[in-house]
Amino acid sequence: MHQYMQRVYDEVKARNPHEKLFLQTVEEVFESLEPIVEKNAELYEKYGVLERMCEPDRMIQFRVTWADDNGMPHVNRGFRVQFNSAIGPYKGGLRFASDVTLDTMKFLGFEQTFKNSLTSLPLGGGKGGSDFSPIGKSDAEVMRFCQAFMTELWRHIGPDVDVPAGDIGVGGREIGYLYGQYKRIKAVWENGVLTGKGFSYGGSLIRPEATGYGAVYYLVEVLKHFGETIEGKRIAVSGYGNVGWGIMKKAAQLGAKVTYFAGPDGYIHDPDGVTGDKLDFILEMRAKDPMHCKPYADKYGVEFVPGTKCWGVKDVDIIMPAATQNDVNEEWAQKIIDSGVKYYIEVANMPTTNEALAMLRKCEHITVAPSKAVNAGGVATSGFEMSQNSMRYNWTAEEVDEKLQVTMKNIYAASVEAAEKAGLGYDLVAGGNIAGFLRVADAMIAQGLV
Ligand code: GLU
Repeated sequence: MHQYMQRVYDEVKARNPHEKLFLQTVEEVFESLEPIVEKNAELYEKYGVLERMCEPDRMIQFRVTWADDNGMPHVNRGFRVQFNSAIGPYKGGLRFASDVTLDTMKFLGFEQTFKNSLTSLPLGGGKGGSDFSPIGKSDAEVMRFCQAFMTELWRHIGPDVDVPAGDIGVGGREIGYLYGQYKRIKAVWENGVLTGKGFSYGGSLIRPEATGYGAVYYLVEVLKHFGETIEGKRIAVSGYGNVGWGIMKKAAQLGAKVTYFAGPDGYIHDPDGVTGDKLDFILEMRAKDPMHCKPYADKYGVEFVPGTKCWGVKDVDIIMPAATQNDVNEEWAQKIIDSGVKYYIEVANMPTTNEALAMLRKCEHITVAPSKAVNAGGVATSGFEMSQNSMRYNWTAEEVDEKLQVTMKNIYAASVEAAEKAGLGYDLVAGGNIAGFLRVADAMIAQGLV
C-alpha cells in the first residue's frame, strides 16, 4: 500500500479496533484506490482526503423505548451515521435487524458515500437503523417502534439535510409509519424527507423494484461486453426481499430465469424459473413469514434443500448474492470457482468477504461486479423520488424506468473507463470504487478543510 494510504489505514484501525465490518470495507476500497492515490498522493495528503473520508461527519446514537402489545417495555438502540456531505445531503437507508451495531452503520455509510457518488446525483452518504427486528412483531408494535424511533431522529434529518430510506427490515410499511410521525412532530409537508414512500403520499413508481431492476440492467451491460445477451441465462440468487424479488421479475421480463434462490432456511431449485404467479406467491410468503422459503417448494412441487446456500450449483450462468453482508466466504468462493460459473454479480452491500473477493477476482473464468455499482439503482431511484417531491410532480413508471436504465448504463461505463484510465484493464470492482471516489474527492478538495 502507498505510504499515505498505509498511514491512514493504520490510524483508522487504531481508532476503530473492534469495527470489523467498517475496517473490511475501508481495506477493500483502499486497495482499489492505490493507483489513483499514488498519482496524486501529494494533493490528497495536503487536503487530508482519505482521513476525512474515513471519519463520519457525525454519528448519532439514541435510545428507543417502546412497549409491546402486553405493555412490557423494550429498549433498542437507534443510529444515524451522517458520513459525507461533499456532494449532497446525507442519503441512505435505515436497517432494522437484530445484529445491527454502530459498526454495521459505519460500513454501510462508508459504502453509501461511493455508491451515491456513482449515481452522479447530488447525494451524500449516510446510513441508520436499529437493533430492533420487525420479524415476529405485530403491526401495532412495529408502528409504536417506528414512532418512538422518529421521535428522536426527526431533529437530525430533513429534505436538504439527511434523507433516510429503507434497507433490510425497513419497507413501505415502516417508511409510512416513520413519515407519519415526522409529519406529526414537525407539522410540515416536507415530502422529500424520506424515500421509499407509498405512491399515495409522494413515493416514486418503480422504487420498490429499482434495486433489483438496476442490478439486472447492469448485468445486461456486463454480458454485452462479452458479446452475450441475458436471454436464456439461468441465475442463482440469495435473498428474496425487495432486491431479490426485483431481480426475479426483471430477469423473467427479459427472458432469463432465476432457477435457484436461497432463504434463511435453505434453498429452492425451480428449473422453470420464478415467473408469473410465482412472483406474487413470493410476496405473500414473505409477508407471512420472512424466515422460511420452503412453502414455495411445497406449493410448486420443486426441490428444497434445507440449511445451506445455493452457491456452487453447476447449472447456472450467473450468481447474484442479494441477501446480506459476508454471505460468501472463502469456502463458498471455492465452490463457486469450481462450479465453472462465469459471472459473479454482487448485489447486497458487501456480500463477499475480502478474502473470498480476492479469490473470485483472481479466477480467470469469472467476471466480478461490485455491489456499490450494481445495487446503486435503488438509491438512484430514491434520488428520482426526491426530484419528483421537489417538483411536486410524478413521473410515469416508464419515465422512471428509463432514467434508471440510463443511470445503470452510465455507472457501468464510468466504472469501465475509470479502471482503464488507471491502467487496470477491465476491472469493474476497482473501476467502481475509483469512479465513486474521484467525484467525492474533487468536491472535498474544492470545499477546503471542513
Ligand atoms: N438501502 C439502500 C441502499 O443500500 C437504498 C438507500 C436509499 O434509497 O437511500 O442503497
